[in-house]
Amino acid sequence: MIDCEPASCPICGGQRTAPYCDAPDRFALSSERLYAIQHCLQCGMIYLNPRPPEAKSGQFYEHADYLPFASLTAKRSALSRLYEFVRRANLRWKRQVIANFWQQNAGRLPLATCHLLDVGCGTGEFLMEMKNAGWTVEGLERDERAAAWAREQHQIPVAAGGVEQLAASTQQYDLITLWHVLEHLYHPGQVLEMIVKRLRDNGWLLVAVPNIAGLDARVYKSNWIALDAPRHVSHFSLESLSRLASKHGLTLRWWRQLPLDAFFNAFMSEKLIAQRQGKGYLWPLRWLRAFAVACASYVGGSHTPFSYAAYGASLVCFFEKSRR
Ligand SMILES: [Zn+2]
Repeated sequence: MIDCEPASCPICGGQRTAPYCDAPDRFALSSERLYAIQHCLQCGMIYLNPRPPEAKSGQFYEHADYLPFASLTAKRSALSRLYEFVRRANLRWKRQVIANFWQQNAGRLPLATCHLLDVGCGTGEFLMEMKNAGWTVEGLERDERAAAWAREQHQIPVAAGGVEQLAASTQQYDLITLWHVLEHLYHPGQVLEMIVKRLRDNGWLLVAVPNIAGLDARVYKSNWIALDAPRHVSHFSLESLSRLASKHGLTLRWWRQLPLDAFFNAFMSEKLIAQRQGKGYLWPLRWLRAFAVACASYVGGSHTPFSYAAYGASLVCFFEKSRR
């Protein structure tokens, strides 16, 4: 068993905390080990504390069912097929939300000249979607197998390596995307700092994260699937994410939710509860509850003429590089 070490707040560096909840590792339920998630008494940021040492964190990603690499595995369960369906729908939605945003806010450049970098691109399906929409695309992926897959299957330039590689690069991008990456990073502020340097003037950063202030996170608390301890080390809300970004030269301009995350989170959280309680016969009730929670978070994260609520399951935020 890996010993954890204390962490300070990833936003303000504070060390005074109060408990938020204790969460299991969903891939190692039999160990019955729980990880403490705390909130910073100085700024309210919620984060994993203590946490595994960064050098040893890689082994928590080696589980065969870890979904970002589902497309690399031949065996498909019903659940991973459902995940695949959700992922394809999500890809179309991601392309559409960027197209809408680009048209309204950044449409000064013809798309064919726009350069996109996806950090933590996995097996490259999102980049493929964007390449087909006319973007010049590039990827960066820590997992060498996933990077090789993207290069070979999609003929997309994907470098294998961590975000620290950005420090050595001189390439400038119009848009950099971090889809569900920031919550995994041990030093999110340093990474944003590196990213800002790789953005052109008037460049944009898209950050997508699970929303700890979402309705589903509040309902499921320690069983909320997106706590994903100990892989997720930071848990952002719109407020804490924009505060972190503004410390590193980025201004929040526009945000939406990933609608399908509401459903994915609710059903997966119910599955986690069932696994922890060992009560399979409650499935109809669980599905009903999951559906109700998902619909509520979807509405809570929707933009309506009356509200600009940030209670959805996830946040997709566009940040503009501030002029310094
Ligand atoms: Zn803090």
